Amino acid sequence: MGKGESTIVNRPSSILAERVTYSPEETVFFGREIAVHLQPPCLVLLEGDLGAGKTTLVKGIVAGLGAASEDEVTSPSFTLIHEYGPAGRVFHADLYRVEGERDLATLGLDELSSQAATILVEWGEKLGNDVPSPCIKIRMEHQGDDCRRILVERVEA
Ligand code: ADP
Ligand code: MG
Repeated sequence: MGKGESTIVNRPSSILAERVTYSPEETVFFGREIAVHLQPPCLVLLEGDLGAGKTTLVKGIVAGLGAASEDEVTSPSFTLIHEYGPAGRVFHADLYRVEGERDLATLGLDELSSQAATILVEWGEKLGNDVPSPCIKIRMEHQGDDCRRILVERVEA
């Protein structure tokens, strides 16, 4: 616990939660726990390699928010944004194929940010510094086999 410098957006950040999971089910469950603490409007940036479990965690978050069932949550393809629940409540984007640093305006995410919505962005680091403050950053790491380390941080101005 404590304050530290965020490596991605270079802003002060504080650790909200840290968890090691040993199965996809545990990661989904942790997503449900995280959802309880998300208050819209809220931007959540998910970082971590392919297969780290970002989409799996989003399943739990979206289900925890009551916007859709886990099975309804799938990985959005290039610049496509999935929308769950009643109009404008939960958006899920994946920037994997986006080249270089892009801004919120280009992706249309800034319009969504103005709504009372929860916006979940896989490969959120590709937004660079162009993110509202505060936002939530979730870093996911492979720790071998089915083990994943998940760090949840609040990034300040
Ligand atoms: P990403 O969106 O980061 O590319 P996915 O969630 O799509 O990752 O895929 C994660 C893969 O790893 C899935 O096939 C999932 O079943 C598997 N997996 C194994 N262990 C875990 C775990 N502890 N947490 C999340 N996913 C896990
Ligand atoms: Mg994914």
